[in-house]
Amino acid sequence: MEQTLIDMKVEMSFLIPTSVVGNAGTINTGAFDPLSSLADICRRERMWFHVDGAFGALAALSPELRLLVAGMDRADSVAFDMYKWMYMPYEIGCALVRKEEEHLRSFSLTSTYLTHTERGLAAGEAWFSDYGVQLSRNFRALKAWMSIQAHGVSKYGRLIQQNVDQACYLAALVDASPDLELMAPVPLNIVCFRFRAPHRDDASLNKLDEELVLRLHDGGIALCSFLTIGDKYGLRVATFNHRSRRDDFDVFVGEVIGLGKSLLDEGFAQA
Ligand SMILES: *Cc1c(COP(=O)(O)O)cnc(C)c1O
Repeated sequence: MEQTLIDMKVEMSFLIPTSVVGNAGTINTGAFDPLSSLADICRRERMWFHVDGAFGALAALSPELRLLVAGMDRADSVAFDMYKWMYMPYEIGCALVRKEEEHLRSFSLTSTYLTHTERGLAAGEAWFSDYGVQLSRNFRALKAWMSIQAHGVSKYGRLIQQNVDQACYLAALVDASPDLELMAPVPLNIVCFRFRAPHRDDASLNKLDEELVLRLHDGGIALCSFLTIGDKYGLRVATFNHRSRRDDFDVFVGEVIGLGKSLLDEGFAQA
């Protein structure tokens, strides 16, 4: 038994990392990993470099935001969701793999009923089933192709920039209000903040902010989500609607402050 444990320890110390996943825009706050540094490490250590760019990869479409994803161009693979920041309906995502042979070698599995032929129904070079685990699949690519044909890529860049500008505008409104507190930097389109009041501890402010989010939802005022950073509960506003206007954020902040104050009056978060 002891022998086995020692063997296991020895084996563990020889585990070799094969890949690094860098984050381009985390879910909670939209934070970025330093992708260039990760790319350097991966090149030096001969590891696969993947970028989870579900949201943030698309920042590359805006000339002003492109700097955020510097280094992403050196990834072996990148994934992003077009139903998110390309404003397309559920569900469509995209995975880009640099080397097609490696992509094929990972997924292609040609059993007898999937034999490719030179002619006839089973002819043709690219079979999508050779590039992933899914065999039968929807024609999802059509809506991506048509949207890009209709709008052009640069319009997406402008809308993405508009959403980030709106997030910065909201962050400035939060910063300017003594009743609100930013909970994280705003590098992208996500603003995390909470309602606060003097002389209250975090536990009671958490209860107040939880109720505040529910009243925003129930009242049909706004659909923001929520998060916990450390011990603090707060509101999470991810702005990715192409129809949003600055006024919407003025109204939103006014409503949040109004609700927060009435919750204080109701006895939430007593000092
Ligand atoms: C949305 C998101 C995911 C999950 O994407 P699905 O399309 O739901 O699989 C993963 N990572 C990040 C950073 C995301 O924003």
